[in-house]
Amino acid sequence: MIVVMKPDATGEQIDHMAAHIGTLGLTPQVIRGTHQTVIAAIGEERPGLIEALEPGEGVEKVLPIMAPYKRASSELKSERTVVRARGLAVGGTRVAVIAGPCSVESEAQIIGLARRLKALGATGLRGGAFKPRTSPYSFQGHKEEGLKMLAAARRETGLAIVTEVMAPEHVPMVAEYADVLQIGARNMQNYQLLQAVGDSGRPALLKRGMSATMDEFLLAAEYILDRGNSNVMLCERGVRTFEDHTRFTLPLATVPYLHDKSHLPVVVDPSHGTGKARLVVPMCKAALAAGADALIVEVHDDPEHAVSDGSQTITPNAFGQMMAQCRRIAQAVDRTM
Ligand code: PEP
Ligand code: MN
Repeated sequence: MIVVMKPDATGEQIDHMAAHIGTLGLTPQVIRGTHQTVIAAIGEERPGLIEALEPGEGVEKVLPIMAPYKRASSELKSERTVVRARGLAVGGTRVAVIAGPCSVESEAQIIGLARRLKALGATGLRGGAFKPRTSPYSFQGHKEEGLKMLAAARRETGLAIVTEVMAPEHVPMVAEYADVLQIGARNMQNYQLLQAVGDSGRPALLKRGMSATMDEFLLAAEYILDRGNSNVMLCERGVRTFEDHTRFTLPLATVPYLHDKSHLPVVVDPSHGTGKARLVVPMCKAALAAGADALIVEVHDDPEHAVSDGSQTITPNAFGQMMAQCRRIAQAVDRTM
């Protein structure tokens, strides 16, 4: 921690802060510059220190050196985490592709689509059984029946199932059917849900909240990791901005940023990130070029009649074209797909 004193801080104020740092169990080291004095507070950076130091008289600002997240940080673990669930591996040289409808609609739909997607190269099957909808009047998902349909599709294809869990009390039920528990953007800061998913030990796909900063996102991942569950994937799915030509704004700088700050694998969701089917394939390509470890994409046989998110959903044909184009990009960035 670095305590930067104001240019006009008095000797008494500097001495007081050095002593205060000592009482907090840290070693103060006063560095006097020509204009300003800074005090290095050497020792473990723990929560609450900034709040204890910032109100001091003569203090201009307090700068942490370490990231506020620990288990998620590449400062403490440098080798990259690979999250595995059945045939799905996210974080290795092979780029993973998780595809499927926004909502599970029927057993025939999900099995048919799963077969098709597997043949085209998907390694995970997505589909919502519990749906977080903006309006309470919209389709809310088939719930446990939907989970059974996903499990049937897994029996047919072997694809790993990725599906959302919305409430802590549903975690045991969803974990009974799913291989990966998705935590939706709207629930990124539902700390009890994060802890329950952590306790389940199941791989988690954590979506970035639509107005969450990178530190908030990584601290949300920290909640899962802190329960002893190291299988966390970070998913960029777009944020809210002033822009309205797309449903959300998809910031792909997130990918290299997270790769620098964290060892956790990074997934990109160009479906929710753009909200427009025709933008999905180009943004899949861009995500791969930026270094994404996996893509999660909404695909439906008949997007016009999808019960949710039809306008951002691509057809299996478009998915096949996306795979062919993305394989070439993957090769250019030393990945396979
Ligand atoms: C979804 O994946 O269908 C979904 C609701 O995603 P998000 O939480 O990113 O909006
Ligand atoms: Mn959706």
